[in-house]
Amino acid sequence: MTDTSPARTPHVLAAGDPGPVPAGAVLVADRLVRTDGADPAEIPCPAADLVAGELRRAGAAVVRGPLPVAAPGAPAPPGAVPAPAGAAAAVLTGTAPPAGIGLVPGPPAGGAESADPAGAARAAFAAWRAAAVPVRTVLLAAPRSFCAGVERAVEVVERALAQRGSPVYVRKQIVHNTHVVADLESRGAVFVEELDAVPEGATVVFSAHGVSPAVRSEAAARGLAVVDATCPLVTKVHTEARRYADRGDTVVLIGHAGHEEVEGTLGEAPERTVLVESAADVAALEVPDPERVSYLTQTTLAVDETAEVVDALRARFPALRGPASADICYATTNRQDALRSIAEDADLVLVVGSHNSSNSQRLVELARRGGTPAHLVDDTGDIRAAWLAGAATVGLTAGASAPPGLVEAVITALGGLGRVAVRERETTRETVRFTLPSAVRQP
Ligand code: SF4
Repeated sequence: MTDTSPARTPHVLAAGDPGPVPAGAVLVADRLVRTDGADPAEIPCPAADLVAGELRRAGAAVVRGPLPVAAPGAPAPPGAVPAPAGAAAAVLTGTAPPAGIGLVPGPPAGGAESADPAGAARAAFAAWRAAAVPVRTVLLAAPRSFCAGVERAVEVVERALAQRGSPVYVRKQIVHNTHVVADLESRGAVFVEELDAVPEGATVVFSAHGVSPAVRSEAAARGLAVVDATCPLVTKVHTEARRYADRGDTVVLIGHAGHEEVEGTLGEAPERTVLVESAADVAALEVPDPERVSYLTQTTLAVDETAEVVDALRARFPALRGPASADICYATTNRQDALRSIAEDADLVLVVGSHNSSNSQRLVELARRGGTPAHLVDDTGDIRAAWLAGAATVGLTAGASAPPGLVEAVITALGGLGRVAVRERETTRETVRFTLPSAVRQP
């Protein structure tokens, strides 16, 4: 395996037996285990997630695990070590601590996997070598990650599982994050799209995004034991929707069509509520009485874009009424302010969050509108080497539904590409906490 990229001299490691790995697969070492009795016995490979992600996108079959090595750190010419005949090829890394790649010779395993695992491994190795720097600054936004509503919703499911046992059904994703959902699933939560998938009499949790009255009625009719994890700030918007509709107004809901929170809010007064997504939608709006129009917003919108829509509404309906305080929640607002403070000094912004997370998507858009390249990543494995090449300063944040540990994992992985200097910029400190619903409040 040859790496022709210039610059650093790679550490070269003699190969050992990596254990059972399918032929044609690429072993990405998450640690190097020394077989020569030297100290330290293990060398971590923090960039392993990055390398593995690159290989998976290239269609290679990836196996993660330890890679035994006999003589780490020996000097060698640029490039990687050729595979010892009949053995796993160990190859590594222009960085310290190293990212390790082992290549297990043999025909590709077939299916959708790469027809050229060696080529894929070489390309991934070269790409990450090019992204390595002596030192990289990470500007860490604060606040970031979990908000009070998400913490509460996750705790609701955990408590329901502890108190009632598995399975506990959850309608829709409890919060929009694949890792949170997978973790709760592994502990006995069963996620369903609609209530008809929940057996009669079972416990069902409503997600943080809220539900329409029709869903509540259906749950009652089916005798389900409901635990409501709707964020109190979403409940506030539902209350406003009912109040505005009851006084005879047309309720203009600013939000994204199809989002679960929007579906739930629309359901409070469907005959009196209209959805607009942009200022352009406002121009086409027809209402029975222009003197009786109120607006509401989804809680996770971009603050600046929403202000434009409200301005457009006010221009068309001067008697427009709205909530006393903004419906865009404190957590969304704080994360956007924090993002702004790092994006202007960053070469690249990474936002940790899932693709269906509205507030995470808004953070990416906000950075891009300010002229900084930005990408949404579900976890470290989504990061592309090409994004990091030339990025000496990386802005890092996470949407309100992304666990803090994923941010830590990104920082650790970047440490496999050179030293990382972390600078946190805190624009405000959050102290908001919500009480748990009574159904799960008792310990
Ligand atoms: S983002 Fe805001 S509305 Fe959504 S769960 Fe968090 S605090 Fe509640």
